[in-house]
Amino acid sequence: MKITALNGFKDILPGDIELWQRVESTAREIFSRFQFSELRLPILEKTELFARSIGEATDIVEKEMYTFVDKGVTMRPETTAQMIRAYIEHGLYAQRPIQRLFTIGPMFRHERPQLGRLRQFHQLDAEVLGTDNPRIDAEVMAMGSMLLERLGISVSLEMNSLGCPECRPVFRQRLLAFLEERMDHLCDDCKRRSTTNPLRALDCKNPTCREQVADAPSILDNLCEGCADHFQVVRSCLDKLKVPYSLNKFMVRGLDYYCRTTFEFITGDLGAQSAVGGGGRYDGLVEKLGGPKKTPGIGFAMGLERLVLLLQQQEKEQEKRQEELDIFVAGLGPVASEVCFDLVHELRKQGLRVGIDHEGKSLKSQMKQADKAGATHVLIVGEDELARGEGVLRNMTNQEQQDIALDPQVIGTKVSGR
Ligand code: ATP
Ligand code: MG
Repeated sequence: MKITALNGFKDILPGDIELWQRVESTAREIFSRFQFSELRLPILEKTELFARSIGEATDIVEKEMYTFVDKGVTMRPETTAQMIRAYIEHGLYAQRPIQRLFTIGPMFRHERPQLGRLRQFHQLDAEVLGTDNPRIDAEVMAMGSMLLERLGISVSLEMNSLGCPECRPVFRQRLLAFLEERMDHLCDDCKRRSTTNPLRALDCKNPTCREQVADAPSILDNLCEGCADHFQVVRSCLDKLKVPYSLNKFMVRGLDYYCRTTFEFITGDLGAQSAVGGGGRYDGLVEKLGGPKKTPGIGFAMGLERLVLLLQQQEKEQEKRQEELDIFVAGLGPVASEVCFDLVHELRKQGLRVGIDHEGKSLKSQMKQADKAGATHVLIVGEDELARGEGVLRNMTNQEQQDIALDPQVIGTKVSGR
């Protein structure tokens, strides 16, 4: 019997590993610019650590953890909680008032495996402990953006504020009142969660729930003064750093420990797995886990698999583009075909990838050839145009056409966009 790897667990082989190494070394380089230090943490932790931090009524703790029930230990589903555990255990707060830490490694969640969703996956995780200065929120998001930009991955940054223990309960009540009127139309998950965590209805993926909450009250209109001010400064700091973002009042993040600033880096290129990374502030968590009082924190985690998938897609597109023709020259009739013969050679001398048909095929057939070769432009030279010393240049991307002189320089400049 052949023994294969478990479903949702993947080998990373030579050929793929290079992209992993690139992501990891780029992350180390960018994180060091922001004065972050690396640490490595164990895979197993006491179950209680995650139950207490992430929250009992969250997807992760409810159904995604790999737990050895008899031993009371769990394979880490995320690393913020254990980062804090280590921070407290080793008294890192005493060494530096503000710690900037990051780690890279595998996480484990029992989810349905699909593209960009595995049971063992890897995260880059960065956290700043010991300050609630809104500038840090902006710096942390700017660091994530800088990393993605450096990797050439385009995403949008979405942001929300989840308020604090002072204003969130008030909002929660208001939201609950709103949801109660629509409870019959909500999915079973949202109904069940309405008593434990009604905010989750806001980011439910179910289309009917989405419709129902479309005009739910926004937490951003319900923040207390302290949270509203904090969020305002975060926003102006992002503007100052020229980091683009948009507000998303539906983003609540699935973990109990978040407060105030929360954010996600979103891509449109991975289907349903649109979050490349996410994070937020967790000002009460250190204290809750037995650490020193008033030790705020903020951080984010990015999924390495999703970053690597995006880079692979990028490489494929680049390869495809490299094979594509810049221009296909279609001469119609023997005279035009003669003129095109040396025109094509001149264009190739300029470095363009050029296709031509020597078999006297119809325009339709030549257009087909051009299309197949992925030509971005086609130059059509018919007898009428030839009489004027011109051809018709068609841009295949936007279908625009223009008359153009049969001059290799003029055509070359137009096609290469120089
Ligand atoms: P999702 O909405 O995709 O389930 P999440 O909110 O559960 O994501 P986080 O806990 O914020 O994810 O983890 C941060 C990042 O880790 C995600 O943005 C994603 O890139 C990655 N990630 C999370 N779960 C998985 C998984 N099962 N497989 C691969 N990557 C994952
Ligand atoms: Mg998840």
